[in-house]
Amino acid sequence: MRVEAAPQAGADFIRPFQIEALGIRGRAVRLSRVSDEITHKHAYPEPVARLLTEMLTVSAALASALKYEGVFTLQTKSEGAVRLMVVDVTSDGDMRGYAQFDAEAVAALPSDASLPRLLGGGYLAFTVDQGESTDRYQGIVELIGADLVECVQHYFQQSEQLKAGFKLAAVQQGGHWHSGVIMLQRLPREDQSTAAEVDDDSWRRAITLLASCTSKELLDEDLTIDDLLYRLFHEDGVRVFKGETPRAKCRCSAERVGSVLRALPRTELAELETDGALEVTCEFCNSKYRFTLADLDHDQAT
Ligand SMILES: [Zn+2]
Repeated sequence: MRVEAAPQAGADFIRPFQIEALGIRGRAVRLSRVSDEITHKHAYPEPVARLLTEMLTVSAALASALKYEGVFTLQTKSEGAVRLMVVDVTSDGDMRGYAQFDAEAVAALPSDASLPRLLGGGYLAFTVDQGESTDRYQGIVELIGADLVECVQHYFQQSEQLKAGFKLAAVQQGGHWHSGVIMLQRLPREDQSTAAEVDDDSWRRAITLLASCTSKELLDEDLTIDDLLYRLFHEDGVRVFKGETPRAKCRCSAERVGSVLRALPRTELAELETDGALEVTCEFCNSKYRFTLADLDHDQAT
């Protein structure tokens, strides 16, 4: 069965692939509108927008490689200028994310400040939430690494489930963010669908080929992601599978916000009230919701 052609640059796209001779699976991701829409909702300073774009890109690859029905979340919590970053991806491909940071502390750092300087000490959490009837999976590791990819690799080393290799790039051009990642996964032997064993030499070969990919190639507008995968891995037989198209879409709604508010004690609601109403802003998409106490009482009665 033939899969669809990869779109040209500027489209948000996730391409699952397999390197046949090496028995390695992967995901190639390019984001532009998704990260643009999400970062522009907040007018983040450049270092924060860049980091969040990288988080979105890596999250798209990680979520696509997981089998789940629900929400995958990648989160950092740290003591530095950027206190919190959250990205979540639903199994339908809806993505959202936001960052909490100290604007003055970020402004005091150079615009190309590294992840350790922006975040400081903290942790990285992977969560898969598949709804009330199933157990929530959460893995947490210390933030160790010079960049986001090293921090994510540290997670994989700790969890010992599988090895992963990444090539990640993000750039802002004309006020728009473009990013890409290629992720390779060496899966535990029992999980492999291919007969080929992934030996150490094959893994090293794949990682060397991946390392030969430049940031320019990863973001090259004249090179589709499939052409790039072919260029990198054609000697070992790269095979691509049906692609996915992620979207920037928040899950907040007046109903959801209302039900959260109704769960709070009445005295607490009264304290939150200003000028006769409660205003709630969604941290992800900046949407504002306004309720009066009477609205909340009325909705509960119906
Ligand atoms: Zn929202």
